[in-house]
Amino acid sequence: MSETLKAKLRYASTPPSSEQIEKIKKILEKKFDDAVIEVETIEDPSIGGGFVVSCKNFEYDWSDAGRAKQLRAELNNLSKKTEEHDTGRIISMLGNKVVDFKLQVEDREVGTVTWVGDGIANVDGIEHAFYGEIIEFEDGTRGMAQDIRSDHIGCILFGNDAGIRQGTRAVRTYKEAGIPVGEAFVGRVVDALGSPVDGLGEIKETEYRPVEQPAPGIVERQSVNEPMETGILSIDTMFPIGRGQRELIIGDRQTGKTSIALDAIINQKGKNVICIYVAIGQKASTVAKIVQTLKKTGAMDYTIVVSSTASDMAPLQYIAPYSGTAMAEFFLHDGKDVLIVYDDLSKHAVAYRALSLLLERSPGREAYPGDVFYLHSRLLERSCKLSSELGGGSITALPIIETLGGDVSAYIPTNVISITDGQIFLESDLFFEGMRPAVNVGLSVSRVGSAAQTKAMKKSAGSIRVDLAQYREMAVFTQFSSDLDETTKNQLRHGSVLMELLKQPLEHPLKMHEQVIILVAANAGRLDLVPVKRVRDYKEKLLNYFNTEQGEICEELEKSGELSDQLKKRILDSVDAFNDVENKQLKEEIEIAHGNN
Ligand code: ATP
Ligand code: MG
Repeated sequence: MSETLKAKLRYASTPPSSEQIEKIKKILEKKFDDAVIEVETIEDPSIGGGFVVSCKNFEYDWSDAGRAKQLRAELNNLSKKTEEHDTGRIISMLGNKVVDFKLQVEDREVGTVTWVGDGIANVDGIEHAFYGEIIEFEDGTRGMAQDIRSDHIGCILFGNDAGIRQGTRAVRTYKEAGIPVGEAFVGRVVDALGSPVDGLGEIKETEYRPVEQPAPGIVERQSVNEPMETGILSIDTMFPIGRGQRELIIGDRQTGKTSIALDAIINQKGKNVICIYVAIGQKASTVAKIVQTLKKTGAMDYTIVVSSTASDMAPLQYIAPYSGTAMAEFFLHDGKDVLIVYDDLSKHAVAYRALSLLLERSPGREAYPGDVFYLHSRLLERSCKLSSELGGGSITALPIIETLGGDVSAYIPTNVISITDGQIFLESDLFFEGMRPAVNVGLSVSRVGSAAQTKAMKKSAGSIRVDLAQYREMAVFTQFSSDLDETTKNQLRHGSVLMELLKQPLEHPLKMHEQVIILVAANAGRLDLVPVKRVRDYKEKLLNYFNTEQGEICEELEKSGELSDQLKKRILDSVDAFNDVENKQLKEEIEIAHGNN
């Protein structure tokens, strides 16, 4: 027995003829498996002319208003000419931008809003929407189906919800969220949906890419084997990062997390790496400052800033890192190397928690929803090194997590620690002692390890990590004893010089050969006699000397990336020669100082 369905036919002024009604009934019968259709006609001048037929959740729009809208959309498309790249699967999240209803009558599933607020809308009547589908509201705002329930779906909104109220119609688009990507984005500041916010005009996209994309599989990858140098001595020597690696930067507030990420970006100058900085829930002033720093150092030439500030609604903060990754993937599949910074994922988790609570999902530990681990794992898994057959591109991720009181065992920190390939742990105590960058050597690790270091670096780094660990232990142990034997004294002196060497000012990344020279000199004990206060000064002078007078050594190091015993000897000889001159000067200075007294 086939069921009976009621259809509503709205017309502007002239009611449909019985012939037309018969035709419509036929179409509906076909659609709803031979159901018996009863048609009710209603006069509705707002549609302008023609008919709109709705039955169950579906709607056929033959009205003038609907056609005008389609035509407008089509014209919009033509002027944008993005169709050739559009896979037909995705649609921009921006409302009123690229609306591609076909210029033909198609049925669409429609529903009505039952509740709206805080960037969330509950829609009743769209039963078949899939997770992540873009839903369009009457006023052109777009939302994403995020919560599929038996009686309604919850949408997160990517625009202002002022035009949406109870009863507003919502239409399925049958497409998932996409974002414009392309070369033209480099050097620009965009919001989470890819529209420019830097006032430099429109950006011509190359194509649209889905915001959510499954991570490349095992066969499509290769192991991380190329270094991604940060230019920060304490990181490149002890916790080397490789292209395609995910290294977490974790620490309390104001411990220099952002600074490390920025220095890493600045250091990519001339290295053929595209950098993407994703700001999540940050103050607009902070983002402005970061952009300024990037511009000042010339890093903006190869960087995209994706900004979702604290004042943006939770859906935008939630989507921002995925958008940034979609942009990165455009370059990845082009065989390029990308460095992406997520600053920071704690705020991302908080935005997601806000969304989930508004969608009435049950809260779990620390009130986060149960799938908060998946939130970050599916994001970070997209960073990889592709196999050579696929072009060998890579995405290196530097996610940032803020801890409270150094507690790395809280929910979100433990999650992200377990997803990433290592962490750089920054400590407030070290930071306030003046040890900047405040890297805690004991708790930081890079699980890719030396596979991502140049040979020269690997060889010269030697035992620096162990030396430092021993020094820290010894320093505590011998704090109160005055009588120390000679070996202990030497060890302490060596350690304190090393600590001093690892201090590095902002925006001063070191080149690979500079790091090697410092390490070779330090590990051979050539710096142990330099008074701790003078170490920084000495380091600058030594590097200056090498860069100006020993250019050959520097060049050889950079070119070959290897440190032969012979080259090492040459470096040490040059250091000795430099020391002689330097010591003489020091002596003179001391004499002058004494003479003055
Ligand atoms: P927040 O938690 O607010 O995001 P953060 O951990 O990202 O902070 P930054 O903003 O990077 O920290 O740095 C905090 C302050 O420390 C800044 O004023 C910065 O200039 C200073 N700073 C960071 N690193 C260094 C360094 N290596 N040398 C000198 N100053 C530094
Ligand atoms: Mg920061």
